[in-house]
This record gives sequence, C-alpha cells and structure tokens, in this order.
Amino acid sequence: MQPKQHIMHLPVYQPGKPIDAVKRELGLTEVIKLASNENPFGCSPKAKEAIVAMADQTSIYPDGAAVELTEEVAKFWNVDTNQIIFGAGSDEVILLIARAFFVPGDETIMATHTFPQYKHNAEIEGAKIVEVPLDENGNQNLDAMLAKVTDKTKIVWICNPNNPTGTMHTHEEIAKFMAAVPSSVLVILDEAYAEYNTTGQYPDGLALLRQYKNIILLRTFSKIYGLAALRIGYGIGHPDVIRSVNQVREPFNTTSFAQKAALAAIRDQAFIDSCREQNAAGIRYMQAEFDKLGLSYFEAHGNFIMVDVKRPAGQVFEALLRKGIIVRGGHQLGFPTKIRVTVGSQEQNEKFIAALESVLKEVPVQV
Ligand SMILES: *Cc1c(COP(=O)(O)O)cnc(C)c1O
Repeated sequence: MQPKQHIMHLPVYQPGKPIDAVKRELGLTEVIKLASNENPFGCSPKAKEAIVAMADQTSIYPDGAAVELTEEVAKFWNVDTNQIIFGAGSDEVILLIARAFFVPGDETIMATHTFPQYKHNAEIEGAKIVEVPLDENGNQNLDAMLAKVTDKTKIVWICNPNNPTGTMHTHEEIAKFMAAVPSSVLVILDEAYAEYNTTGQYPDGLALLRQYKNIILLRTFSKIYGLAALRIGYGIGHPDVIRSVNQVREPFNTTSFAQKAALAAIRDQAFIDSCREQNAAGIRYMQAEFDKLGLSYFEAHGNFIMVDVKRPAGQVFEALLRKGIIVRGGHQLGFPTKIRVTVGSQEQNEKFIAALESVLKEVPVQV
C-alpha cells in the first residue's frame, strides 16, 4: 500500500484541547475557551428552534441541493441561486475549490501566515505553494502577492480579515488587486469574519462579483452566526465557476439540521447586529487593557486579537491554561511571542485580562 507521495509529509490536524479535558486534567471547575473564534453568545434562538423542530427527521436524507437555503441566501445577497455553493463549513468549500481546479504543477499564492486550510488542500492536490510574507502591520502584502503571479498561477487566496492576525483590506485595496490580477487566476476572498466589520470600508463583494468572473467569496455560519457545530458555509461566484465546484461536491455534504438552522439564522439579523456590537465593545475593552499593560497588538477586524506578550508564547499559553483560560499560542502559528485571543463575553474578557495580568508577572520578559 502506498499513499500519494505528496501527502506523506502532511501533519494530522491537531485540534485545541476540549474544555472538559482541560477541566479534568487541571482539576479546574471553570474553563474559558478563547481559542477558536467561536461566538460567546451562541446562535440565534430562532436557529435553536429550527434545530429542535428537526429532531424527528434524523432518518431522512437532507436536500442535497439545499434548495430552500440557497434561495434565502441568494435573496440575501441579491444574486442568482446558481451563484452559490454550500459546504460542510467553508472549510469544505476550500477543499472543493482545490479539488475542482488544481492539477499537479499548478502554482498557488497565499500569505505565509494565514488560514492553514488553503495550503493544506492545495498540497493534497499537488499544487506548488508560493507563500508571501505579511507586511509589518501583520497584513497580507497584496503587491508582493501580485508580483508572484506567473502563467502557472491557478489560485490566489486572500483572507480578509486575515486569520490569525485580524488585519483587513479595504474595498479599494481589493478592487485594485482584482483590476491588476490576470483574469485566468482565480481569487478566493475568504470573508469568514466579514460580519464583524465596523469600519465602513469592508470590500463590497457584490460589486466585485458583478465586475469579475475570477473571484469566489467565502462566507460561513460558524463564526458570528454561531453554528460551528453544524458545519455549514458557502461560496458565492460566477455561475460557471460555481458549477465547476459543484461538480466535485458529494451529494449530501450539508445536513438538514445545518440547512434549517442556517435559514433561521440568516433571517435573524438583529442577533447578528447585537453580536457585532458586543464584539466591537470587547475589542475596545481588550485593546485598552493591552495598552495599560504596555502590550502591542495588530489591528483587529474579526472577533479575535493577536497581541504581543513579549514572552515565549508557549509559556504564556501554558500559564493561562493553568488559570483556566484557553487561547491560541502564536508559537504554533509562526508568532513566537504573540497569542491570539478570541473576544468573548465581557465577563470572559475581564477574566482573561485578569489572568493575563498575573501571567505576565510569572513569566519573564524575553524579546
Ligand atoms: C473559521 C474559518 C473558516 C471556516 O470555518 P468553517 O467552520 O469551516 O466554516 C474559514 N476561513 C477562516 C479564515 C476561518 O477563520
């Protein structure tokens, strides 16, 4: 037995520790997880009702075409239904795009520090990865990415806001990039955290879609919509491009529970507005606290902040863990003195800041 040569070096995904395991191992009664950019307020109550209402439908296959949800999302975006594809999370849409487009030898461009699933899926398909370092503000360097385009380039991945740094590109920046990139190159604009944006400068995806065929926007119900457990996200693009992605999709890739919950969730924009406001307040609170502690951070436009703790990230991660706070250590993300922390509820944020303050006293500074 011989697996594909080019997957032999791939690591198996290491998930963060579940809350219950941390409680058991460390003998803690309360553990706060601020590691996976999950919504501290859960999902819309309407989505919960929709899930419960499905409880006697477990023996029935889902609608493989997700017709009802597709219509609702198309209406929400003012696009045609054939411009949308759903996946088991936008993770799966990334996989499907890679599966549909890459042949071995293709080149694909992404930032050195960005969402890992672009690289992972491109490698599985045998594409050559071209990574471009972030700029000094922690954002993707679009000019440098553009300069790497060759006639072998198949896909460019832009994560906006970028995970793990939280930085964003404005509409103007993305529009300029789209105008310059050859139309033979597919641009994936991953907008997993778009709904958190409060700048008024976030890219108008719809305008870009009207102008360019070579772009797919990725959206998810996992972040502000609070449905990560159900696994549902989607891509929006030109009908021809979406059709190609649909051709490699499994027939029943999203569950009926996820479809119904997403339908109810997208109709409840009041819940989304409230989450956005509370998140923005949480960011202001945390940044003010970091300022007091003399810590610098990248601009944060999602529901997480990457902060420089000026100490080895692994040690700060472990020390926070012992106090019942799970964050993402930058040592695993290519940022040896930074941590990425999800914005929680105000109570969670205050507990995190208190824990961080005492951890900073325990762990010696090391620049
Ligand atoms: C969380 C996340 C996703 C996808 O999450 P799904 O749960 O698979 O929808 C995609 N892109 C980025 C940048 C993310 O942070």
